[in-house]
Amino acid sequence: AVMREERIKKTKTVCTYCGVGCSYDIWTKGRHILKVEPLNGDANAISTCVKGKFGWDYVNHKERLLKPLIREGNTFREAEWEEALTLVASKLGQIKQQHGPDAIGVIISSKATNEDGYVMQKLGRAVIGTNNVDNCSRYCQSPATMGLFRTVGYGGDSGSIEDIGMSKLVLIIGSNTAESHPVLATRVKRAHKLFGQKLIVADPRKHEMAERADIHFSPKPGTDLVWLSAMTRYMFDHGYAKNDFIAKWVNGVDDYRKSLDLFTMEFAAEVCAVPLQTLIEVAEVIAHADTMCVLWAMGITQHVMGSDSSTAISNLLLTTGNYMRPGCGAYPLRGHNNVQGASDIGAMPNNFPGYQPVTDAAVRQKFEAAWGVTLPPKNGMDNHQMIDAVYDGKMHAIYMAGEDMISADSNANHVAGGFERLEFLVVQDIFFTETCRYADVVLPASPALEKEGTFTSTERRVQRLYQALPELGNSRADWKITQDIANRMGANWNYTHPSEIMAEMAPLTPLYAGVSFDRLEGYKTLQWPVTPDGKDEPILYTERFNFPDGKAKFYPLEYRKPSDSPDEEYDLFLNNGRILEHFHEGNMTHRVAGIFKETPERWVEISPDLAKERDIDSGQWVRLTSRYGSLKIKVLVTARVTGKQIYLPLLSQEGPVNVLTGSFTDTATDTPAFKETAVNMQVLPEK
Ligand code: SF4
Repeated sequence: AVMREERIKKTKTVCTYCGVGCSYDIWTKGRHILKVEPLNGDANAISTCVKGKFGWDYVNHKERLLKPLIREGNTFREAEWEEALTLVASKLGQIKQQHGPDAIGVIISSKATNEDGYVMQKLGRAVIGTNNVDNCSRYCQSPATMGLFRTVGYGGDSGSIEDIGMSKLVLIIGSNTAESHPVLATRVKRAHKLFGQKLIVADPRKHEMAERADIHFSPKPGTDLVWLSAMTRYMFDHGYAKNDFIAKWVNGVDDYRKSLDLFTMEFAAEVCAVPLQTLIEVAEVIAHADTMCVLWAMGITQHVMGSDSSTAISNLLLTTGNYMRPGCGAYPLRGHNNVQGASDIGAMPNNFPGYQPVTDAAVRQKFEAAWGVTLPPKNGMDNHQMIDAVYDGKMHAIYMAGEDMISADSNANHVAGGFERLEFLVVQDIFFTETCRYADVVLPASPALEKEGTFTSTERRVQRLYQALPELGNSRADWKITQDIANRMGANWNYTHPSEIMAEMAPLTPLYAGVSFDRLEGYKTLQWPVTPDGKDEPILYTERFNFPDGKAKFYPLEYRKPSDSPDEEYDLFLNNGRILEHFHEGNMTHRVAGIFKETPERWVEISPDLAKERDIDSGQWVRLTSRYGSLKIKVLVTARVTGKQIYLPLLSQEGPVNVLTGSFTDTATDTPAFKETAVNMQVLPEK
């Protein structure tokens, strides 16, 4: 709406940082952002965190990419769109001709809109002809999705953020919720403080939620499946399992119970290094809670058993009847603003939009009819496999949007080697990221404030954002760039607004069937699945689970050891994650002056015991070395970590944490085992 003073404008938008999905009005004058004003967003009411409130200066930062860049030897030169797009289209076409469509990979941004993502996966599938399509949930949340697919059928939060506030018991595992999902954490803090909600936190680190918890315990990293399975067995053994619920709603109980034989509380106490009494106490609280929500994040998923541990959480929820009611359920906390949406819209190597398998002939025919092409019938490669395929000589080109793989994937050196060998790399982004250094063509995209579209938050909530600012310089919305590439490769797409993209996707995608821009006008939102007449589902499972007979499934599990753990040479366990003020690798928040000023430095947290053992104090420089790489950083001594566990934010002054992390991955999804890294620490002379 144009306000009385001509040039002051307020525009409704959705936060571009985490997956909570806070929405608010943003007041602008010209390109100046005057203020952020949350009115009554469905996820956040009138709250935001520091990033949502103050984290916007990056959109006007002098380092924004304003023109396409084309590599010339070791440097880049600026180019006009026409030249850059023609080069990209002709080179991709040529590689397709020479090596086949599967020699090309498409990596889609989980920060861009659903509409941006939809056209990009369509480019991969319908124009290039490959299912080599993926997004960054491969680095974080794919295991959570897998755990839920296996047991309840949909890869999404089973209730709403509101339910978390209503629950009698919240169990947080491997999530630094107060810093990573601050507004959601506020609901828990409030319910815990004011309404008697119980809070249990399982985490190696004593972060804010752990400090607040009624019970905090620290399982040995990589052993969560064991204590979770032992809890479940305890429910069966002590008559706490909800047998009526199980009989009516869950298949496979007999086989599952047999699979629990190994998982006694005594076994869990030993493997997880948690006192037996604590485990029993936790089990008793769970057994007696009327309703329980389990929140988890990368502390669970970024392990070789990430999918299995996520499955174990869902098994426990099924055993205790904590699905199908308000205040219950599974809440994998999505990292980026549109991680949920990127997977929903088909940025996956095995699924069309709405998790419809590419291997299903009937589904394929539906998309073939709609898109007027023949589609590839085999699953494609995920982004991890794409890099390995470069080394094998099978992957020749990658087109990547809004993804800084060099800073975000594990084992940065391996990824860099892959990019160096790649014949053609196109990176579409708002800044010249580390990954851009390896590109042949860099395309300047527009951030959220400069475009229209929808995001889908962690609670499956689809929300609309409106354009607050014009596109800066020659930068453009991602969907426009992708459409121009597609048309130069022979397609004939004519989208003029993202609403037309959603109008194409919705009828092809049962989960989004009733989603339209009209139904999302202003602050209106919809939580999928949305029926064609526009009815949505705040609680995901009310009348059935998402399997043909409507019943959920118990999924038996086995325990395997972590891929890396401390030994004589690498004697410390390295944990890593976000901090409140900065987002992931910092490409955006490092360019917000106010935020950067508050937290210019990074550190590695070490325990008072370790500091004493090495005779060092806060401010001391050290070198951390893993089996894969090494970096230099300052020490912060804090009781947040104990013993030989240390904690590193995702980005340090001397490089991202993935210099240290290795190539092991979750066995079911290829998500890197970021949280399984042993390092040693050398004290450096300088202080
Ligand atoms: Fe944005 Fe997440 Fe903060 Fe909300 S909690 S304002 S979505 S970063």
